[in-house]
Amino acid sequence: MSEYPTGTLMAGKRGLIMGVANKNSIAWAIAQQLAAQGAEIAFTYQGDKLLRRVKPLAESVGSDVLLDCDVTNDDQMDATFKALADRWGRIDFLVHAIAFAGKDQLSGSFVESTTRDGFKSALDISAYSFVDAARRASEIMNDDGAMVTLTYLGSERVVPNYNVMGVAKAALEACTRYIAADLGPRGIRVNAISAGPIKTLAAAGIGSGRHMFRFNKAAAAMQDNTDPKGVAGAALYLLSELGASCTGETHHVDGGFHAIGMPQEGPLRESLES
Ligand code: NAD
Repeated sequence: MSEYPTGTLMAGKRGLIMGVANKNSIAWAIAQQLAAQGAEIAFTYQGDKLLRRVKPLAESVGSDVLLDCDVTNDDQMDATFKALADRWGRIDFLVHAIAFAGKDQLSGSFVESTTRDGFKSALDISAYSFVDAARRASEIMNDDGAMVTLTYLGSERVVPNYNVMGVAKAALEACTRYIAADLGPRGIRVNAISAGPIKTLAAAGIGSGRHMFRFNKAAAAMQDNTDPKGVAGAALYLLSELGASCTGETHHVDGGFHAIGMPQEGPLRESLES
């Protein structure tokens, strides 16, 4: 039996998930939850090296639609959405779980380490790619469709080493609101989920990651790290009829870390008071 709540909320719905790299990917947690509710899913993967990992995962949720797509490659973006149109005609949802910044951009001083090329590539891959994918997806999306992207609190507050990625996430959240306004009249909803730190390939690229997990656990309202299943549940809500009327929103799923101004009593406070 699936470890994700089963049901029929996504029965008859078809959509694209971009950003599964392996079994730890947030996009994979979302895929499992959507599949457990009856969704039919197509996946993109970034190059042959990742196909080896993504193919068996896709097969385990009954999908044989695997499309090679680097979001910086216009030909691959064209081919991806053409393949979806040829296969299904229309789609109902899009999940965008893609981000990248060079490792040299993700440690130390933001002002010292951010280069012009590093800035351009982080914003291109992590923010513009959602605009591009949303435009292409909207051309074949049913009028009650929905889109979700993944962001992080580093867009709103300074998080050490997150640097240019925080700027890219701020842009991504603004893009989410603009896309929501454009597609709203058609009934297409567009939202972002701001997830707390989760151990994935992308998270491993951020300097002092281990400290980040410990600090989040100690300071979050729930005094625990973020469960990918909670993120997947939020995606199900936002992509299904449960999310009706919710659009342009950045929804935090981070154990309440974002809500805390000063840590409550507990190990973190004690360590500061001793
Ligand atoms: P992940 O490494 O599993 O996924 C990142 C994905 O981005 C990979 O599938 C990778 O192939 C893809 N990608 C990068 N550059 C690409 C390109 N040029 N073309 C196509 N695909 C490309 O890591 P994840 O943590 O699951 O990341 C998914 C999303 O969640 C990202 O937007 C990330 O910023 C966001 N997020 C992650 C965390 C966390 O702590 N892990 C927290 C909040 C938000």
